[in-house]
Amino acid sequence: MPETASNGYDLIIVGAGPAGLTAALYAGRGMLQAVTIERGAPGGELLNTDLIEDYPGFESVKGWELAQKMHDHAKKFGAEIVTDMVESVRKGEDGVFEVRTARGRVYRAPTVILTAGGTPVKLGVPGEKEYAGKGVSYCAVCDGAFFKGELLAVIGGGDAAVEEADYLTRYARKVYIVHRRDEFRASKILQERAFANPKIEVIWNKKVVEIKGNERGTDHLVLEDTVTGQRSTLKVGGVFVFIGFRPNTDLVHGHVEHDAGGYFVTDDRMMTSLPGLFAAGDVRSQLTRQITTAVGDATTAAIAVEKYLAALREKERASIAS
Ligand code: NAP
Repeated sequence: MPETASNGYDLIIVGAGPAGLTAALYAGRGMLQAVTIERGAPGGELLNTDLIEDYPGFESVKGWELAQKMHDHAKKFGAEIVTDMVESVRKGEDGVFEVRTARGRVYRAPTVILTAGGTPVKLGVPGEKEYAGKGVSYCAVCDGAFFKGELLAVIGGGDAAVEEADYLTRYARKVYIVHRRDEFRASKILQERAFANPKIEVIWNKKVVEIKGNERGTDHLVLEDTVTGQRSTLKVGGVFVFIGFRPNTDLVHGHVEHDAGGYFVTDDRMMTSLPGLFAAGDVRSQLTRQITTAVGDATTAAIAVEKYLAALREKERASIAS
């Protein structure tokens, strides 16, 4: 029989990255009874980022430092943050959400803000699983320092690939960016920085078909030209895959409107098609996914939750009175 943690909550926040911590801060200031559930250390993707230079007011701040500041700020306003893994979010017939966790707890509340972020997309090629942690990585900040003086490959052409390739040059002898097209989708400023870095070489129009290695780890990539189909090899001691994120939206049971990528579609109050379920940050369908947008989404969501709860209580009062 699962343990019911509490039934007294107004709001359950799933995830404690920038969006979750902001929602917790605003919920605290709004005097809501809220609980934030996070499986790891608070900070989310901030903890996978070395330096942040695009968060207003902080010209340059370490990811872990901003995470700590956001965490302390939310706690100052009374945030209750528990370490546990959310396994499912379900809305019951009574209109109350039930959030079940890996530790067998069940949290209940009339509203949920989902800020659960995403998980890195995998290449799905032979050798990727086999050499994961032995040369194949999805986090430059976590693993970059293990590759001092090595030849590395970064796969992808978005912001993450181009930015992290630049970061990896502080350790690597050389970083190849292997991209399947002949232009990046990364922002211009990141592209310019990468093109100006003498340790970066871009390999256009190539996709990885296999990661080969030996007992010491990754040894080389088998590439295929996306125009001619010709195969080649690239000797590398490590490969960093940055080909996008998949939103962690499948925690939610029942139909919720989403876009082709699986990101939840919300209204301008961040509410999904399931009344009472709000989404903020990387799980939400939107043009870009930045710390600033995550924080903005969460601010709107937490304030919208206050208004949603007030309307709910008003409706309950009216139905009792009639
Ligand atoms: P993304 O923007 O979706 O880019 C994914 C890249 O991987 C694309 O270049 C794509 O190629 C390539 N790709 C996808 N599947 C592939 C496959 N199977 N094989 C080879 N290549 C593949 O993802 P992201 O770079 O992780 O960024 C995610 C979001 O976070 C974006 O909104 C981004 O702006 C944001 N972000 C921002 C910053 C920053 O501003 N500092 C840093 C990191 C991330 P195509 O281009 O051909 O589709």
